[in-house]
Amino acid sequence: MEIANRLKSIPPYIFAEIGKKAQAAQARGVDIINLGIGDPDQPTPKHILDAMHTALDNPVNHHYPPFGGTKEYKEAAAAWCQARFGFKMDPDTEITSLIGSKEGIHNIIQAYTDSSDVVLVPDPAYPVYRTSTILAGGTPYFMPLLSEHDFLPDLSAIPEAVATKAKIMFLNYPNNPTAAVANLEFYGKAVDFAKRHDILLCHDLAYSEMTFDGYKAPSIFEIDGAKDIAIELHSLSKTFNMTGWRIGYAIGNVKAIKALAQLKSNIDTDVFRAIQIAAIAAFQGPRDHIGYCNKLYEERRDLAVAALEKLGWHIKPNKATFYMWLPVPKGMTSMEFSNMMLDKLGIVVPPGTAYGPAGEGFFRMSLCTDKSRLQTAFDRMAQQSVTFEQAAKTKV
Ligand SMILES: *Cc1c(COP(=O)(O)O)cnc(C)c1O
Repeated sequence: MEIANRLKSIPPYIFAEIGKKAQAAQARGVDIINLGIGDPDQPTPKHILDAMHTALDNPVNHHYPPFGGTKEYKEAAAAWCQARFGFKMDPDTEITSLIGSKEGIHNIIQAYTDSSDVVLVPDPAYPVYRTSTILAGGTPYFMPLLSEHDFLPDLSAIPEAVATKAKIMFLNYPNNPTAAVANLEFYGKAVDFAKRHDILLCHDLAYSEMTFDGYKAPSIFEIDGAKDIAIELHSLSKTFNMTGWRIGYAIGNVKAIKALAQLKSNIDTDVFRAIQIAAIAAFQGPRDHIGYCNKLYEERRDLAVAALEKLGWHIKPNKATFYMWLPVPKGMTSMEFSNMMLDKLGIVVPPGTAYGPAGEGFFRMSLCTDKSRLQTAFDRMAQQSVTFEQAAKTKV
């Protein structure tokens, strides 16, 4: 029996492909160092686990949860946002729960995109913006993120005809995969652009707390009037080392939050109540683990910067996210470099093209591996120094 054309029309999830290749190498006995993962290596903090254990024992929590999140969960999310960013969101109308922000991305696209509609998608980007647009029958329009523009899209380069057809624009800062950050001046321009063209601005803030060197990431709602046109997706995954738990929330524009919640109520039955209770403990509990993890990532980043500089790279250290976005050596494509790293050195690094065509010439390295393992990776690379020297000519 044939699968649907809709499924055939999306490109294969590249991480699954790389994973298969790495697994095959592992089966042959290769000691694989995986620098491709975007998943915190530290455990979920204990106070969150404790809340979960207690919640599990209460039979009230074993039933279907309410659509859109429990009142307590939404109130705790609102309080977290107020304390962190300084704005108020109404828990009843401006917040809805998500089974992780990946789910929110998919469903907001389903809620707003008809066939022939355009969705503005950064390139490179988290692949879900593009694939979910294709699944909805819409057309992704790539906004290139270039190093010469600090990996921000050039909004003035979007043709008028495209902007007119566009229903949603995705932005994501701190950014995966480039690790770039955006300031309020840029967000102001994006909000103006979205208002001018009647586009839902959807900001993915998955890395809001993963910042270094004193940098603090802003929310799009620090811009006056952003609520007229924007929603923002927040996730507990990266902030609280809770990727496996599947919980997040969307905030902002009342109409868009309502549409998202309505669509979701037809598809899923929300987040297990015990997980919502654990998430409340995350919002309300001590925050020292965030500083602790950021310090870990920052130390790994410093180690990586020093090692890569020695190998010939010129690096502007990233201020946020556990990713580094680096140019491949001259004369190689991203895929060739990624294959070489895996085949010769047993190191998994995704090629930039896994995140979109503008990722050509780059690879992503993640910092979710401890320092000694990272050091082993750089030691292996040092043995190949001739190949890497040419990278010195490329400026990040
Ligand atoms: C990790 C990641 C997510 C996924 O978050 P979940 O809440 O775990 O679904 C969303 N967006 C970006 C850019 C990410 O890197």
